[in-house]
Amino acid sequence: MSAQIIDGKAFAATVREKVAGHVARLKEEHGITPGLAVVLVGEDPASQVYVRSKGKQTVEAGMNSIEHKLDADTSEEDLLAIVDQLNNDPAVHGILVQLPLPGHLNEDLVINSIDPAKDVDGFHISNVGLLGTGQKSMVPCTPLGCLMMLRDHHGSLSGMDAVVIGRSNIVGKPMAQLLLGDSCTVTIAHSRTKDLPDVVRRADIVVAAVGRPEMVPGDWIKEGATVIDVGINRIERDGKNKLVGDVDFASATERAGAITPVPGGVGPMTIACLLANTVTACCRANGLAEPEGLTA
Ligand code: NAD
Repeated sequence: MSAQIIDGKAFAATVREKVAGHVARLKEEHGITPGLAVVLVGEDPASQVYVRSKGKQTVEAGMNSIEHKLDADTSEEDLLAIVDQLNNDPAVHGILVQLPLPGHLNEDLVINSIDPAKDVDGFHISNVGLLGTGQKSMVPCTPLGCLMMLRDHHGSLSGMDAVVIGRSNIVGKPMAQLLLGDSCTVTIAHSRTKDLPDVVRRADIVVAAVGRPEMVPGDWIKEGATVIDVGINRIERDGKNKLVGDVDFASATERAGAITPVPGGVGPMTIACLLANTVTACCRANGLAEPEGLTA
């Protein structure tokens, strides 16, 4: 059997189209333009690429993009002052502080200084708590994108056995909460999990978010399972640089029912969901109905 490839690139394009449609309506019917502020501290090359891409896609969706690029030695006090200013700016509906921050800055403190209603990354402790208790929250973008693809593929996820490999606050834990919210039976596996192959073999849904190139071979995958590969790993093969996921794509496609490729799977969904979260935040801030299909 060869798995169906879940085309994240195409799916992300449909999400961005929906977002752009809502943005156009917000402008036309209410005179509101959603605004997303991105704060970048320092010159980490990967972060610079992400921030550029976020700004570009924000503008393409018809929203306002506000960028604050700060020196690597910016003090915590100055960074918190900028977040405070954005919290109080009614034209800003979403705030994202690009992580990682330079070592002298306390990430938890900075993230928790963002107004939870504008926390479009969904990392604020209030949003984590709201998600964990099944209440309306801002949901982290990468797991939200995974959930959207799973819902699109399966319709209902109710009663399915799901294994999330990885327990990070950014991907693994919120992913598990979302799957639980959709009534899956969820196992969170991590670096200390015993008999990982057996744990994975039980799963109808496997979400791999580890950061280890091709660590999940095809023979761990239950026949017909859906595999969502979050990992983005740069490797050198045959003298060329290559991006691969946490799943060995070649062998996994022989067993899975459906699988996301790397690149072109989960990756493009992350920024699309950031845009979706910004529109959602804007609608909530203005007491308007939330866009359908763009939230958890
Ligand atoms: P992380 O390093 O914070 O967490 C990795 C997790 O994997 C940890 O919980 C750890 O317990 C677990 N782990 C490590 N070794 C393991 C092993 N041998 N067996 C089982 N579990 C193991 O990473 P993260 O931020 O969650 O990111 C994970 C991957 O997803 C990375 O490759 C990252 O680049 C990628 N990522 C992609 C996107 C996207 O937009 N597609 C977004 C975020 C992260």
